[in-house]
Amino acid sequence: MSNTAMERLNQLLPEWLETSRLHTGQGKVASYIPELFKASQDELGIHIMNAEGNHVSAGDCGVPFTMQSISKVFTLILALMDHGEEAVFFNVGKEPTGDDYDSMIKLELVEPGIPFNPLINAGAITVSSLIAGDCKEEKSRRILEFFRKLANNDRLGYNEAVYRSESETGHLNRSLGYFLKHNGVLKDDVEDVLAVYFRHCSIEVTCADLARMALVLAYDGTDPITGNELIPRRYVQIAKTFMTTCGMYNASGEFAIQVGLPAKSGVSGGILTLVPGQFGIGLVGPALNRKGNSIAGVHLLERLSNEFDWSLF
Ligand code: GLU
Repeated sequence: MSNTAMERLNQLLPEWLETSRLHTGQGKVASYIPELFKASQDELGIHIMNAEGNHVSAGDCGVPFTMQSISKVFTLILALMDHGEEAVFFNVGKEPTGDDYDSMIKLELVEPGIPFNPLINAGAITVSSLIAGDCKEEKSRRILEFFRKLANNDRLGYNEAVYRSESETGHLNRSLGYFLKHNGVLKDDVEDVLAVYFRHCSIEVTCADLARMALVLAYDGTDPITGNELIPRRYVQIAKTFMTTCGMYNASGEFAIQVGLPAKSGVSGGILTLVPGQFGIGLVGPALNRKGNSIAGVHLLERLSNEFDWSLF
């Protein structure tokens, strides 16, 4: 069934991508991490993969970019695999915020001390501290190894320039870290936790890597191409729920209505999404809309979802 869809995608995608690319002019490339501002405004690429390993891709899908917030989905999964649900959710909540991803107000107000969910920055920094390992290097090594397995790509590595750029300018994340330490949520040295966090945000991928990682989620934790069981199904279920409720920042509700798929975006313009039991999808378009999501990417996904009736709802 998905191979027939593949044929139709093959016909439609190149032209649709170019139509969506016209929207990039209305977006803005993120500049608060100076190195990210080097990305091209009009770039747009997509890679869609099915369980047989067949794929359709279009546009600038070979350009590498950093995962940024997309990495948070997989560090959450690794923390769950390391410690289980109870321990993780003792430190981080399960609710969407409706606020900007780096909001401190909600962090304080509703559940005193613990961040609202693992996909806002405060929550993801907390999750970074929960990754098993004796030191920051060991934690980062385990994260990279896990991501390499999910992407089936041993060459995944860091973009050192982006890492340094964020590490030097990430004052807001630093203040979130110290706030969490003050509240007793972070036990470790704040700078060490931030180094783990900035490192996983700077892991560099292509659309094909994201599509392969998404495919594992689309098949409940098993890589359908190798048959390797990489994630327990329950943790995939948790991750997909957070992607649906909070994966697209405070546009998650709108995205659920317009596209209706679990997804996670990042400030580099990447979006990872999936059609359960069918496709893994990786996309990049660095020009962002006002809510921080790839403007052309969301446009393209809306069109695809409508055409192929992908919405889960
Ligand atoms: N590393 C970025 C930050 O913490 C990730 C943000 C994002 O992609 O939403 O600001």
